[in-house]
Amino acid sequence: MRNYLLLTPGPLSTSQTVREAMLQDWCTWDKDYNGGIVTPIRKGLLAIAGLDENEYTDVLLQGSGTYCVEATIGAAVKPTDKLLILANGAYGKRMAQIAGYYHIDHVLVSLHETELITGEVARRALEENPGITHLSMVHSETTTGLLNPIEEVAEVIRGKGITFIVDAMSSFGGVPIDMKKLDIDFLVSSANKCIQGVPGFGFIIAKREKLMACKGVARSLSLDIYDQWETMEKGGGKWRFTSPTHVVRAFYQAMKELNEEGGIVARYERYKKNHRTLVDGMRAQGFKTLLPDASQGPIITSFLYPHAGFDFNAFYAALKQKGFVIYPGKISDADTFRIGNIGDVFPEDMEKLLEAIRNTDYK
Ligand SMILES: *Cc1c(COP(=O)(O)O)cnc(C)c1O
Repeated sequence: MRNYLLLTPGPLSTSQTVREAMLQDWCTWDKDYNGGIVTPIRKGLLAIAGLDENEYTDVLLQGSGTYCVEATIGAAVKPTDKLLILANGAYGKRMAQIAGYYHIDHVLVSLHETELITGEVARRALEENPGITHLSMVHSETTTGLLNPIEEVAEVIRGKGITFIVDAMSSFGGVPIDMKKLDIDFLVSSANKCIQGVPGFGFIIAKREKLMACKGVARSLSLDIYDQWETMEKGGGKWRFTSPTHVVRAFYQAMKELNEEGGIVARYERYKKNHRTLVDGMRAQGFKTLLPDASQGPIITSFLYPHAGFDFNAFYAALKQKGFVIYPGKISDADTFRIGNIGDVFPEDMEKLLEAIRNTDYK
């Protein structure tokens, strides 16, 4: 049934059962959809995040992950606020691009792509830039595969009244995140990453009180997360505009499969095992990772080209022929390619990939 295994950061390889869940049509006005699928998803997201419904809430939004990041920034940051963006990759920088479109007063601290956003980085940025009301950053920077220590940043801003926005797009569901302990106000993720659904919508988990404060702030109707939330709350799972029904149904199945696997911790263990198998095997074949192990996350790994004359396109095509789709690199100052560890992918798949690479003429 599979054309090839996607070893990419999303869309990624989904299970047969997730794909089969899309074989029925649903009416967006009907309770079978709103009450039977959408509402359980909203409750389920809070449950897997370990959050209390009285204190936290969530909202689903059409579009890819970027739509949700934009919607969150556009609804949470008022014209009188000042946003600090700590970035070390393309997704962090994209937040500054969003802030620019919205004419939001913002400061972008852009680190090198292999440098971690530590507590020290946050402390210095806050010292140098008075008046910060909001701080946003990426947890798992998919550009490189680096996992930022959001715990350290959370510690630095604790008690300072700064609203904390985390793009956990490629980590939520695959890496444990204690949103309450870290006092994260808005966490953004999407259907087609670690929950292992298909692309088409994203979601925002927020402190109830912070989401309420978004009322009337959004500068975009379709990206107004407060309005979207209000309709979902009052309408028992209703979306304001046409929702991606098949995608949402697939996500419902994907969440069920996440729970059957044992939840986020079990999935994290599998991703770590995929990653370990991949990295050990690649190193045994002479490949080097871009990042040191200390800053590397379990989601996706960047590998340096093995030699100057390395032909990535030929390597890519040869692996695709053998059933594996990998990913090009995304950084500016080193030649890299990336291999994802997430999706319906297991250590045995990584072993098969390593075997395929061994039998590929890339030297
Ligand atoms: C995937 C991803 C996004 C969203 O990208 P889209 O292409 O809009 O889905 C945002 N941030 C990170 C860290 C991501 O990995």
